[in-house]
Amino acid sequence: MADSAVSIVLVRPALLGTYGDGGNALVLAVRLGRRGIQADVVLLDGNQPLPRASDLIVLGGGEDGAQEAVADDDVLRHSLTLAVAAGAAVLAICGGFQLLGDRFQVGAGRSIAGFGLLDCTTDRLSERAVGEVVADSALPGLEVPLTGFENHAGRTLLGAEATPLGLVSHGVGNGDGGGEGAVQGRVIGSYLHGPVLARNPALADSLLAHVVGPLPPLAEGPVTRLRSERLAAARGRRVRRH
Ligand code: GLN
Repeated sequence: MADSAVSIVLVRPALLGTYGDGGNALVLAVRLGRRGIQADVVLLDGNQPLPRASDLIVLGGGEDGAQEAVADDDVLRHSLTLAVAAGAAVLAICGGFQLLGDRFQVGAGRSIAGFGLLDCTTDRLSERAVGEVVADSALPGLEVPLTGFENHAGRTLLGAEATPLGLVSHGVGNGDGGGEGAVQGRVIGSYLHGPVLARNPALADSLLAHVVGPLPPLAEGPVTRLRSERLAAARGRRVRRH
């Protein structure tokens, strides 16, 4: 950390923010605040570069057109690459996840260069994936199932440098035969909306641990109820491998 407050940056929220994904930044800040740790949330819109001292960087999902506009944003591409090299942790959801890969496809087959921060490429599913997802976490130390909501047309194939964030038990996820999301160093991509960190506080704390170290547990009353309800809802959805 460059100063005492943890810096959380929400990237291009006017373009990338489907399904309230911006809430992930708030969850990170609130979970720090409840432990007495100060956090600043920066909304990075317009053409602003990421501050070099960013600790946690959050990208949401977006429509194909919005993703394409962000993929053209060289100020963001350059500053994000520098921030990751300097050790920032990143969480990117759905369209944001696709954008951090090497390439992603929009519309009827056009392939766009991504930011190359995750070793993966995205083409198209045969059928749009919409609905509740459950995935068993593959993140070391995170043993609870991941719950979220997906709505995407992308099929994401991981290369050798990335590993899945989880293994799908209900829903589609990456559509690559069972994986959900990708992890490469401190960069995490996921198809899970929710916002995912509101539904999966353990994932929020594992991101925060990169910056502030292991954290004491919090009372999760309403979140525990939300998780049970959503996990039960997902069990009505069959597993689809594509
Ligand atoms: N536009 C992308 C797709 O449809 C991402 C959608 C999203 O972020 N929800 O695959």
